[in-house]
Amino acid sequence: MRRQLAKCMASLVSKGLMTGTGGNASVRIGESGELLITPSGVYKPDLRADDIVKIDLDGNLLEGARPPSIEWHFHTAIYRRRGDAMAVLHTHSPYTIGLALAGRQVEPVTVEAAMVLGEVPILEFMLPGSEELGRAVGDALTNHRAAILQNHGVVTAGCNLAEAINIAEVLEATSKMMFVASLFGGARLIPPDRIESVRGLNKV
Ligand SMILES: [Zn+2]
Repeated sequence: MRRQLAKCMASLVSKGLMTGTGGNASVRIGESGELLITPSGVYKPDLRADDIVKIDLDGNLLEGARPPSIEWHFHTAIYRRRGDAMAVLHTHSPYTIGLALAGRQVEPVTVEAAMVLGEVPILEFMLPGSEELGRAVGDALTNHRAAILQNHGVVTAGCNLAEAINIAEVLEATSKMMFVASLFGGARLIPPDRIESVRGLNKV
C-alpha cells in the first residue's frame, strides 16, 4: 500500500492533476482506526514507499520519520464519517479549480460524469491544514463523492485508491470538456428526463 501511494502521487503529477509540491493521499488500513498518508514537504515525484507515514484518526504519528500531510484533518474527518471510505485523495486539478474560480459548477455533461460524479459542491475558502477545513470537507464528503475547495483544490473519497483516483480524473476531464464547450457557447446537457437512467448504469 505504501508503494501504491507513492507511485500514484508521481503519476498524478505527470498527468497534470497536481504540482510536485501540492496534493496528498491516504488509505485506511482495514477496519482499523489507522491510516497511511503521504508526508508533508517531499517533492511528489521523489516520494518513496518508506516516506509514507502511519497515523491514527487523531493525527498522532505512529510510524515514519516525517510529519504527515498538513491536511490530515480532512482525511481523518472523512474516515470518521464514512465507513465505506478506504482512500482519500486531494489534488490541485487546474481545470476544475479554474471553473470554480469563475463560479461555475461542474455539471454532468457526459455519461461518465453523470455516472461517476454526481453533484460536486464548491466549499468556500478556508485555510489549508485547518480544523475548520477538516470539518467542512468531512461534512461535504458524507454524501458526495468529491468536493472542490475554493482557491485551492479537489478532495475525493473511494472504496479503494483506484476509485478515489478515478473520481478525480473524471472530474478534471469533465472540467476540461466544459472549458472547451465554453469557448463555443457552452455545453449541452444530457436531457433531464434521461439523467437518472444514465446515473443507474453500471458499466458502459
Ligand atoms: Zn492542497
